[in-house]
Amino acid sequence: MALATIPGYPRIGKQRELKRALEGFWSGKLTEDDVVAAAAAGNRANWSAQQTAGLDLIPVNDFSLYDQVLDATALVGAVPARYEWSGNQVDLDTYFAMARGRAGDRDVVAMEMTKWFDTNYHYLVPELAPDTAFRLSSDQPFTQLAAAKAAGVRAKMALIGPVSYLLLAKSTEDEFSPLQLLDHLLPIYAEVVSNLAAAGAEWIQFDESMLVMDRTAVELEAIARAYTALADVKGSAKLVVHTAYDHVGASFGTLTTLPIDGIGFDFVRGPENLDLIERSGYPADKVLVAGVIDGRNIWTADLGQSLDLLKRIAQRVPVDRLHVSSSSTLLHVPLDVRLETEIDPAIVPWLAFAEQKLAELAILTRGLNEGEQMIVGELAANREIIARRNASPLRRDPAVRERLARLSDADMTRSALFAERVAPQRDRLHLPALPTTTIGSFPQTPEVRVSRRKAERGEISAAAHDSFVEDQIRAVIAEQEALGLDVLVHGEFERNDMVQYFGEQLVGFVFTRHAWVQSYGSRYVRPPVIVGDVSRPEPMTVRWSAFAQSLTERPVKGMLTGPVTILNWSFVRDDQPRADTCRQIALAIRDEVADLDRAGIKVIQVDEPALREGVPLRKEDQAEYLQMAVESFRLATAVARPETQIHSHMCYSEFGEIIGSIEALDADVVSIENARSGLEMLKVFHQHGYDKGVGPGVYDIHSPRVPPVAEIMAAVEATLDVLDRAQVWVNPDCGLKTRQQPEVRAALANMVEATRAVRAKLPVSAR
Ligand code: GLN
Ligand code: ZN
Repeated sequence: MALATIPGYPRIGKQRELKRALEGFWSGKLTEDDVVAAAAAGNRANWSAQQTAGLDLIPVNDFSLYDQVLDATALVGAVPARYEWSGNQVDLDTYFAMARGRAGDRDVVAMEMTKWFDTNYHYLVPELAPDTAFRLSSDQPFTQLAAAKAAGVRAKMALIGPVSYLLLAKSTEDEFSPLQLLDHLLPIYAEVVSNLAAAGAEWIQFDESMLVMDRTAVELEAIARAYTALADVKGSAKLVVHTAYDHVGASFGTLTTLPIDGIGFDFVRGPENLDLIERSGYPADKVLVAGVIDGRNIWTADLGQSLDLLKRIAQRVPVDRLHVSSSSTLLHVPLDVRLETEIDPAIVPWLAFAEQKLAELAILTRGLNEGEQMIVGELAANREIIARRNASPLRRDPAVRERLARLSDADMTRSALFAERVAPQRDRLHLPALPTTTIGSFPQTPEVRVSRRKAERGEISAAAHDSFVEDQIRAVIAEQEALGLDVLVHGEFERNDMVQYFGEQLVGFVFTRHAWVQSYGSRYVRPPVIVGDVSRPEPMTVRWSAFAQSLTERPVKGMLTGPVTILNWSFVRDDQPRADTCRQIALAIRDEVADLDRAGIKVIQVDEPALREGVPLRKEDQAEYLQMAVESFRLATAVARPETQIHSHMCYSEFGEIIGSIEALDADVVSIENARSGLEMLKVFHQHGYDKGVGPGVYDIHSPRVPPVAEIMAAVEATLDVLDRAQVWVNPDCGLKTRQQPEVRAALANMVEATRAVRAKLPVSAR
């Protein structure tokens, strides 16, 4: 019999219980016992949802107070020295100190956070040194197993695999790779495995998703060594190595020869996994965990199609060695679509969140085990939903389709080359050398949020809120003039979020109220859902930009979110290529660019902070993504007249490999997050011969610290050593939304003063 299972489940709870417990604890309102109780209750709720849905094998220890990688760090005792940990069990204070900084009354830097594969989940990066000593330092998996057994749960213990743990880590020293610690780490994992086995664990799942990226022979050899060692101590437990987020590629041969009991594959993001199995066969001694239900997206599955896929897999692997699973942990989707009472009831059946996906898995497993005739009713109902979804007028807008079909290269190309745009822009903008600007948002003060919330709830009129926003804009324009900035912004006070704000004004988007997805720790986001063809019924930002521009002689930047970022931060429809959806969004933004241009806005910034993070895991997929990104950005911006200056802003400054694509965006100026990366990054621009405007962030806005004038001068001067002074802009490294007003004022004053001091040293002709 095939078993229904998943690799992991969301943690937050339907009423956001975990988030509230954590934040209550951090603010001192709740005790440690409250947090422990909330976690236990969350666990029980998750287990019972899965039992009720009919899952056979239920992940245990996938639940985490903060992050599963941090849990692994606690498990093996890899606590960095600065937390001054006693060296016994990792207590809650040490755990949260690693996650958030601060230990007792001491300020310590938190561990670095970075993106988990190509998802929007962030994990805490283990910090490993040649002398890192590992010890079993947490009993979490054992207490979880005991609790699961007490609750009558057939458990599959979830752990981060030892090799992925090391590959996810960063080294504190050059010339040292954490993988060198494998032989020290394995004894701890062996202890965990043998303890779990002794406690009666049936299945133990190791997440080795690092195997879906290009891996070296040394790394594959490490996998073989690790699981050979763990197999020795597994007793009666069965080991499964789980992978997700892509296909396993050249790791397949190593995986299939490991002395383990099962392998998990993602057949949604990695359809190539099926080719691998059909081409090379699948070992007779192993279970195959078939990830066929999308763990990354929120669409009701086409069950007929999923069943066909399972049947194809079943031709290579007998049903009694199959586990039917989601393609990845369900951590990346919200909990329950039934909470969304405000979404159009016609659309709700199109959507499947975590709980609905459990039901899908149960149906598929039954169909596989008992025959399709046992699920005819379910299949028919599902076919009906899919048919309605496909036929819905919400899905397809003929005008958008026609517009898309007519696109040509000319639509993606500005009417003048960069070299030809320089003079008209210069004559229109009258900027000094090293122009100063900011990235767009100014602090979102409590008053701004209060006014917005009151308007949302109808406690004040829309007009009253709008006039409040106008006052904010007046103040921020006056402030920037007083500071002496050269290119101003309107401050983005009218925006709740840089994607949501646009999505709410575009056709084709749906917003949820309770569909929270973990970003990191207790931070959750509610990504918009792109359900249908996208278009822009009317101008979205022109009113605010034109108002801001009317207040000053200096240029005010129009401020838009770019198509790639809107795409990457949404749940995207899966019935057409992502590139088509991206182009539709680009057309909508293009309409806005055209309107801003027509309204006399001289500088238009199209933010693409998420462009870099969307680059696919495998090299072979990167070119296609980058082409989509470049074309969409160009489509959105090429409509601007030559004398209108197009800016873009990007977070994460690792542009080494994609600098060609950055250049191909053909933006007149890009501002980039650079304050923490230094000159290395700028050298990439230099070496590439990048000739357009660049604004490398001169200070880090992620910290409340006010950078001294001398420090900013040094940053600007260092930039001038690498880049041509005619191309350099001076700006902070990201938006100022999360900062406090006084520190922003002080930092920008220093930035302007520093820039003036550097300008004064330039030859007179260059000032
Ligand atoms: N214009 C946006 C802001 O300033 C850019 C935000 C971002 O880079 N994430 O807030
Ligand atoms: Zn940014």
